[in-house]
Amino acid sequence: MLALGAATAALPLAGTTGEAAEGVLPKFVVSPDDVIRRAAGLRPFRTAGFLVKSEPFGDKTLIHNYGHGGCGVTLSWGTADMAA
Ligand SMILES: Cc1cc2nc3c(=O)[nH]c(=O)nc-3n(C[C@H](O)[C@H](O)[C@H](O)COP(=O)(O)OP(=O)(O)OC[C@H]3O[C@@H](n4cnc5c(N)ncnc54)[C@H](O)[C@@H]3O)c2cc1C
Repeated sequence: MLALGAATAALPLAGTTGEAAEGVLPKFVVSPDDVIRRAAGLRPFRTAGFLVKSEPFGDKTLIHNYGHGGCGVTLSWGTADMAA
């Protein structure tokens, strides 16, 4: 994923072609110079699907709830309910 330094809401932007006609956004020109950092977002998943399971842990109960991959937000409502 590339992160661009210029805030897209604030115009005119560095990297644009300059003045734009009234009511027309200036064309944005993406340049390697605009990249401020690179990041990787990992989506850990289980081939068998997410796991919700409890097991004894000393005098406590350990609840596993993981492996949602790229659907963790979507599935969280249901899997949190299952975990509870
Ligand atoms: C690029 C990308 C795109 C995605 N797109 C989607 C999508 O479109 N739809 C969807 O449903 N899901 C999506 N997901 C998955 C979703 O984001 C995750 O499944 C979800 O965020 C997991 O939630 P979580 O609270 O379990 O963990 P996280 O959101 O990872 O939160 C864990 C938190 O714990 C903190 N933490 C970690 N270790 C420690 C420590 N030792 N001490 C204190 N704090 C700590 C971290 O800083 C973080 O804030 C995407 C994931 C990625 C990476």
